[in-house]
Amino acid sequence: MKVILLGPPGAGKGTQAARIADKLQVTRAASGDLFRDNIRNCTELGKLAKSYMDRGVLVPDDVTIRLIMGWLDAPEQAKGFVLDGFPRTVGQAEALDKGLSDKGGIDLALYIDVPKAESVRRLAGRYICRNCQRPYHETVSPPAKQGVCDKCGGEVYQRDDDRPEVVGRRLEVFFEETKPVVDYYRGLGKLKEINGEGSIEDVGNALVAALE
Ligand code: ADP
Ligand code: ADP
Ligand code: ZN
Repeated sequence: MKVILLGPPGAGKGTQAARIADKLQVTRAASGDLFRDNIRNCTELGKLAKSYMDRGVLVPDDVTIRLIMGWLDAPEQAKGFVLDGFPRTVGQAEALDKGLSDKGGIDLALYIDVPKAESVRRLAGRYICRNCQRPYHETVSPPAKQGVCDKCGGEVYQRDDDRPEVVGRRLEVFFEETKPVVDYYRGLGKLKEINGEGSIEDVGNALVAALE
């Protein structure tokens, strides 16, 4: 099963990706996490990606496509995968299709839809683990011990690009560049839309139901 997760920033893609990958018994990757790993390790790619991410705009397609297609080529992903945050442009979607053409492309695009105001509210309270990148929320889903990741003990911090100045730009970019990807998969008959406004549990159940 080859699944992608689409949705505006703060929709709950990262929160739900682990559950979906567990359910399908496949691996998962998030393009944003891969970029942040590169930033943390001070790679050339990280330096380049940061210059875009800090402004809330997309990293160029050629760089992003190379990164994700490289990950997809690894044998671990042969059984299937869950991709969170890729593709985010129609160019990326076409590259993914081309790369998977002998396997018939992806199987399913899950679109988690939330209104803009809810994205803003969620991102304002989001914290993530510096080590494993698991997302938390200061009121909805805080870690058991403040500032410490439940899963790995890493430091929990607020992303620079979750500041309100940058969030507005990221939402604009979603509607301009990523919303057409939703229409692209709808056109292929591979899209399922999920209302992302319920609790984490409810949205998770709706996603699992969509997989069945
Ligand atoms: P995305 O990966 O789509 O940007 P995240 O999974 O990081 O979104 O979630 C964004 C923020 O909203 C996090 O702080 C997360 O804890 C919180 N969150 C996720 N799902 C829900 C939900 N259903 N209701 C309320 N808050 C949520
Ligand atoms: P969110 O979880 O809020 O949706 P991400 O962590 O997925 O945010 O992405 C953070 C930033 O990383 C984006 O604003 C963008 O700069 C960059 N990025 C992530 N995925 C992609 C992609 N597929 N194409 C281009 N840029 C990306
Ligand atoms: Zn962690």
